Amino acid sequence: MVSLSDLLKQLDVSLETYHQSTEFGPGSYAAELQPFVDCEEHLNSSSVHGDRGDRKVVAPDIIDYLRDGLRRTANSKRHQFPLPVILNNCSSPKATRQLITISEESHALQSPQSARVARQIRKKKNTSIFQKCYRLINNQFGGEMAQTKMSKNSIKFRCFWKTTTIYEVLKARQWVETESELDWDFFWSDVGWMYEFFDHIHLADHQRFNHFRNYYELTRKDFLIKNLKRMKKTLEKEDKLEEAANYNFFPQTYALPAEYGLFVEEFKRIPGVWIMKPVGKARGRGIFLFTRLSQISEWKKDHRWKSENPQVENYIVQKYIESPYLIGGKKFDLRIYVLVLSYAPLKAYLYRSGFARFTNAHFSMKKEDIANKLVHLTNFSIQKHAPTYNSKTGTKWSLHSLKMHMITKHGEAKVNELFHDIRSAILRSLLSVQNVIIQDKHCFELYGYDILVDKALKPWLLEVNASPSLAADTPQDRELKYGMLDDVLTLVDMERRLPTQTSLQVGGFDLLVDQGATESSPKTVPSLFSYLGCYNDRDKQLKQMAKAQLASG
Ligand code: ADP
Repeated sequence: MVSLSDLLKQLDVSLETYHQSTEFGPGSYAAELQPFVDCEEHLNSSSVHGDRGDRKVVAPDIIDYLRDGLRRTANSKRHQFPLPVILNNCSSPKATRQLITISEESHALQSPQSARVARQIRKKKNTSIFQKCYRLINNQFGGEMAQTKMSKNSIKFRCFWKTTTIYEVLKARQWVETESELDWDFFWSDVGWMYEFFDHIHLADHQRFNHFRNYYELTRKDFLIKNLKRMKKTLEKEDKLEEAANYNFFPQTYALPAEYGLFVEEFKRIPGVWIMKPVGKARGRGIFLFTRLSQISEWKKDHRWKSENPQVENYIVQKYIESPYLIGGKKFDLRIYVLVLSYAPLKAYLYRSGFARFTNAHFSMKKEDIANKLVHLTNFSIQKHAPTYNSKTGTKWSLHSLKMHMITKHGEAKVNELFHDIRSAILRSLLSVQNVIIQDKHCFELYGYDILVDKALKPWLLEVNASPSLAADTPQDRELKYGMLDDVLTLVDMERRLPTQTSLQVGGFDLLVDQGATESSPKTVPSLFSYLGCYNDRDKQLKQMAKAQLASG
């Protein structure tokens, strides 16, 4: 076994490499992170821990060392350290407390006070990388290219929200803002506008709008499950049993009141904890966990619950995932962004950055904790009310940090498999609604996927959001959302600058599927891994793309 001092030396080198590395894509994890894995094994061995019965105490010098490493990494702008990489799960309550302090300290460095955050956010210059590069390079070419493309100044945009990141991104694009009801080229709206107008207007060929007409087939909790179940059945009928079996990434779910009878039968077969969720609400509102049917009966009485009553609020009842993957003893779920440009043929991109949203309280399945939303629901709108909530530290980690953390614990192969499974689940969810959603060449949609990972590293699709929050609460959050939205606009391509052949990567978006692809371009990215959670090299990619575009004329 390596000695502790050798290990610390290796860690030092590894941290340095980590700081300096600009390419941290798939394939490069294993070697970089091996020392961390070794260190974890080392810490788990009794030679490093002082053994006190079955409780292990982590050597204080290691704690200091790690704290220092975390501080340095948090200060480095480029990367985030995979937070409590080493200490997690391997030590005593005392070490867990230390772990929390460490992660809070490093979070604090990454997510300062809100006034400072706001200042930092304001200070950031608004730029659209692809636009900027295109312009710069174009100038070197004598400005000829601009004549042949749609001029940015002629694009009229309308935006429903004036305070979120999307408005900033649209402004930075230097398109012209309009409040006109219909005279716009690009409209970022809420879904309400669509109900009112969409069926009564005629859009010109080039006009683009950010929702599909019956988007709710994917984003309403009960419709999503209905479509997934139907897809599974269709595949079974067609004797595609292997593919049908892959539709196993959503928890067992019933729509209430319609499927109450079926649910009761299933509940008797598989008791335990179930969760009730109103289909028309978001942000954790109206959700509760239960273990006895009588708890629903009370709820039924309260809601004058009759299926023929149009006033009744529809719910889904779902098997609760009782063994979520925990970090620092806390539950989290993932927010992942997906851009659908077309449903027929299906064309979609997956954003490689995202984040994990943590609870403040430690996870517990004890009877007395079942009703505690702070333990079981990861929604930010719930967690921000926790007595222990710290606005400096927030509740989010980047997907990249999370992936690195998991790799140190489980190895690259297993974690790549998990991220590949997440990617497949997302693709299958889109395939399940492909024939239901009304295709319209004017529409595109940015979805926010909520995924829960369980202890066995299996992903569960909880929900798809049609209007994922675009508000930024920390500089990191802003950077993620700003870049992602800028890439959405590049992909929607109002300026008509993208190559005609489908690009495998545009900014931080990687191609998920392109059914309309020609022979020469791949229909989906053939990969054993997913770029999800990998280093986001969007700046470099956009520069290269702008250069290539201008060079090819
Ligand atoms: P909302 O639209 O109100 O956010 P979600 O379906 O996303 O509803 O659920 C809210 C939160 O509840 C999730 O983020 C997750 O933490 C938890 N949750 C929901 N369903 C389950 C489930 N089946 N098992 C475990 N946790 C769940």
